[in-house]
Amino acid sequence: MQPDKPMSLGKAVLSFRCSHCRQGKVFKSLWHTNETCPVCGIQFEREYGYFLMSIFMGYIWGFLVILPAMLTMLLIGGFPIYLFVIVAMVLLLLFSPLIFRLSRVSWLHIDELLDPREDVTEWRQIADEN
Ligand SMILES: [Zn+2]
Repeated sequence: MQPDKPMSLGKAVLSFRCSHCRQGKVFKSLWHTNETCPVCGIQFEREYGYFLMSIFMGYIWGFLVILPAMLTMLLIGGFPIYLFVIVAMVLLLLFSPLIFRLSRVSWLHIDELLDPREDVTEWRQIADEN
């Protein structure tokens, strides 16, 4: 039996929830990912190097983080180019935990959409019965 999916996709990504059940927390601390979902039991890292694709998601989230500041500075005008670089670097450094988490969770959800996992709870029930 598949667990209920009470959260929308966007809310599940923004609250760092499991891509399969959308209930379990993906992270056990600021920088550490749980090995398995505490609710549905799926293994988050499907294979060695699985989260390498989340690096590309990090580029997108990083761009979205610095975009408002860059546009504001551009609209105000008069800033030297090195100040754009410094502001971008400071913002990326400050928001790096958020970017890291969002990139991993968004990659988990994209991967789940492209290649859905088998329901682990069914396999557990079968294993418990035998
Ligand atoms: Zn789960």
